Amino acid sequence: MTDVRQRTSPLEWEYAPAPEARDIVKFQERYGLFIGGELVEPRSKEWFPTISPATEEQLAEVALAGAEDVDAAVGAARNAFENGWSTLRPAERAKYLYRIARLLQERSRELAVAESLNGGKPIKESRDVDVPLAAAHFFYYAGWADKLEYAFPNRRPAPLGVAGQIIPWNFPLLMLAWKIAPALAAGNTVVLKPAETTPLTALIFADVCRQAELPAGVVNIITGDGSTGAHLVRHRGLDKIAFTGSTEVGKAIQRELAGTGTRLTLELGGKAANIVFDDCALDQAIEGIVNGIYFNQGHVCCAGSRLLVQEPIAELLIAKLKRRLETLRLGDPLDKNTDIGAINSRAQLERIRELVASGEEEGAEIYQPPCVLPEKGYWFAPTVFTNVAQSYRIAQEEIFGPVLSVLTFRTPDEAIEKANNTAYGLSAGVWTEKGSRILCMAQRLRAGVVWANTFNRFDPASPFGGYKESGFGREGGRHGLEPYLRFEE
Ligand code: NAP
Ligand code: MG
Repeated sequence: MTDVRQRTSPLEWEYAPAPEARDIVKFQERYGLFIGGELVEPRSKEWFPTISPATEEQLAEVALAGAEDVDAAVGAARNAFENGWSTLRPAERAKYLYRIARLLQERSRELAVAESLNGGKPIKESRDVDVPLAAAHFFYYAGWADKLEYAFPNRRPAPLGVAGQIIPWNFPLLMLAWKIAPALAAGNTVVLKPAETTPLTALIFADVCRQAELPAGVVNIITGDGSTGAHLVRHRGLDKIAFTGSTEVGKAIQRELAGTGTRLTLELGGKAANIVFDDCALDQAIEGIVNGIYFNQGHVCCAGSRLLVQEPIAELLIAKLKRRLETLRLGDPLDKNTDIGAINSRAQLERIRELVASGEEEGAEIYQPPCVLPEKGYWFAPTVFTNVAQSYRIAQEEIFGPVLSVLTFRTPDEAIEKANNTAYGLSAGVWTEKGSRILCMAQRLRAGVVWANTFNRFDPASPFGGYKESGFGREGGRHGLEPYLRFEE
């Protein structure tokens, strides 16, 4: 990696490049659609390039599925559901899920490199978070497949049928696992649409399904853009739509499905408050704040993007935070020392720039550590805004980038008031040494997940989801099975 940071502090290490081997993954030149167990040419006859956002180089070409392709995929899924999958003994279903989980582990290095190349995230994150958690989800739901009666005692669970699943670009493989693992465990078949900018790990996953000898049509993967997602939502042959993405598109999907009887879950945006009390372990909190907002370049729906600091420690905390930011290394996603990778797309970079400019215009004070950005690709320096008022757009709107807005508070009541003053309600963080205060805050915060003295922790056994404009439905845990089941009387 070229050294992209100007060293300013004598305390800093000079890191030698530590690149992960890129040749562990070999992309095909072109990928068709994974329908009925094989990669097929799109009936639309349309293709589009997929690139690395760090270098803008083309990695492969993928198919752009149109309405006929969506119809073919739904047909394949329906066929697989009716002719075998739904009546397969649950313990047999579990075996396939275990197989997939083990194959994800076996191919973890390849998947991590592919994820970092196609999405721009640092290899240490895709290697240590995305891929292991994706495998863990399949292991976890494999365990439930033959125990559904225990998950829902005194009810008779049955699969819904065919689920259409639409996922975003920030955690491509992990979101795929969150969607596919519970759906299959519950006995459904799926048609999944990955995001336009990050189709490649889903296509490697198609190969994993082939290796696992998963019956044809149980998993179908249709690449494309927003129009492909819209075709899927409009298809009346589905029993359920599961969507993760922006609140705007989520609302449009809800309108489209109103009155159709198609079941729906929505996992949408967030604007989480990370609340730091004056009695906290400050240096730990700094690490949690950094992890909360700069992890995955801030492309995280549950990112701690609003920092609420109790007044007595605000000055000290901000000084420490700025110093910590100077040590973050931005650059080549495939370098094992990289903390901050590339912004996922040019469009997302533009959105971040526009919101950051609005913050400066509205009167917030901006800080970015000295940092030279690579010339090629899409990059944004880690950014902190202080003097932020609640009414500013950077305090209200989801930036989905490495940008933190700092506000202060005096009392727990004020912290709650400010934290809940948002249209969203996905996650929150509380930093304090006082256990009773953690419990009290967690009860009053309107957020699906509340982390205490940590942030951005995930576990397949723990449900995840939002309130208000962050959506409805839960993924993960026993709760994550329910949206894929109906209950027979
Ligand atoms: P997005 O534009 O809503 O896209 C999400 C997915 O929907 C993509 O696959 C997208 O396809 C597809 N899509 C776009 N327009 C569609 C339409 N009209 N009908 C059906 N599908 C459509 O969101 P994004 O910008 O990719 O992702 C960032 C957003 O997702 C953020 O707001 C973030 O908070 C949210 N998010 C939430 C969670 C959660 O669990 N709550 C997790 C991750 C992200 P294309 O990519 O091809 O356009
Ligand atoms: Mg989009």
